[in-house]
Amino acid sequence: MQEALDFNQGSIIEPIYLTTSQAYRDSDEMEAALGYRIPTWCYSRIANPTMYYLEGVLALLDGYGSEVETSCIATSSGMAAIQSAVDPFLVADPKNPGARMNFVATTQVYGGTYQQFSMRKDLERQVEWRKVVHSTDLSEWESLIDENTRFLYGEMPSNPGLAFFDLAEVADLAHKYGIPLIIDATVATPALLRPIEHGADIVIQSVTKSLATSGFGISGAVISRMNIVSKIDNPAMKADFASYLKLLPNRDNGPNISPMSAALAINDIRTLRMRMDHMSRSTMKVAQFLAQHKHVERVEYLGLENHPLHQLASRYMYLVDAEYDEQYGKSVNRYGHLMSFLVKGDAKQTRDVFDAFTRIWRATDLGRIKSVATIPAISTHSQQGEEGRKLAGIPSNLIRLCVGVEHPDDIIHDLDQALAVLDGKKIKVTAPEYSAGGASSARLRK
Ligand SMILES: *Cc1c(COP(=O)(O)O)cnc(C)c1O
Repeated sequence: MQEALDFNQGSIIEPIYLTTSQAYRDSDEMEAALGYRIPTWCYSRIANPTMYYLEGVLALLDGYGSEVETSCIATSSGMAAIQSAVDPFLVADPKNPGARMNFVATTQVYGGTYQQFSMRKDLERQVEWRKVVHSTDLSEWESLIDENTRFLYGEMPSNPGLAFFDLAEVADLAHKYGIPLIIDATVATPALLRPIEHGADIVIQSVTKSLATSGFGISGAVISRMNIVSKIDNPAMKADFASYLKLLPNRDNGPNISPMSAALAINDIRTLRMRMDHMSRSTMKVAQFLAQHKHVERVEYLGLENHPLHQLASRYMYLVDAEYDEQYGKSVNRYGHLMSFLVKGDAKQTRDVFDAFTRIWRATDLGRIKSVATIPAISTHSQQGEEGRKLAGIPSNLIRLCVGVEHPDDIIHDLDQALAVLDGKKIKVTAPEYSAGGASSARLRK
């Protein structure tokens, strides 16, 4: 508050600095600023006061509980965050010139990540993506590492398959070989999982999703611990990775966030913990309902006790600070609001179920206040083809569902009536909510 009183005219919300650049008192100040010899924000491709607010908050959230200092750089998208995080490791090794570099990463990743790794890195740049198919098998990870491996990368829980592995073990493995572990923890958010606490060096967040739940725009972030592990001979990069990205590579490449997106994200992050708690509880109810439904083959939700990864996930995913919470007073597991289920049927029947939703939104999106579903095989994960989807475990009868804050019974009801199309009876969808969109509640009230 004191900072707001001193600098922001007492403004209770962080001001939005919609501006390109900073003016200087004289040439000395300008020279020192552009040479990074004095604190400055210079130019909004490098830094901006509103961006700093977001970066400060995310560094604290992802570092919470780890007892290591963290820093953050916000980016224009989650994909830009991934590119920013991995590219500094994909530089030529003067000790081993001409060697083909590689990285070891799980196949169960977001579709955009799969494309960035397979097309932009592996195919176009000849940087080999060594694929971990069974990420719980530590020996598979280890068998893929050699002296040209630059980093290990995993997404957990993965979108949409909810893959999960033993984070601390994989971090130890990376460090044994002198390389960093990078984790995309978008699906969990720092309210439920903070990989740095368990040994990860760098964390990716697609801020677009649950962090900035309002859904106004696209943004991302890279959060890193001080003194990351890497064999690359670049002391500044290793000492403070995110700040290094900000001052040098991202200044030159330009994947920065806009101050407007940063401000919108900060505002939403204030409610992150309570949303993730509420949505996780609702998702559990929905998952339990689907798990016993006759038209559902399988439910992927880490909270379900009979899920093969439930025990492992329970060691890592819990609501931050529940032990200090009046309501709980002890540590409680929460498994997030993303789940997937496999329809007992073929691709066409899966689409029929999907098309019958009246309340759940059909969109390639997640993290919203509204429940949203997609069929990854024909949307987020269509570009990687049949073979790529097989590797990532994404069959055509899989529906990804991200549960919002509606009453869970309403979502359950929508799923139940949609799955009823598989009963063979002709169902006429007459619910007004969908066709009338935003106007529906007003109409219903009349
Ligand atoms: C959406 C998503 C991304 C990409 O983020 P954008 O903000 O859409 O660029 C990366 N990882 C995961 C897990 C995602 O869900």
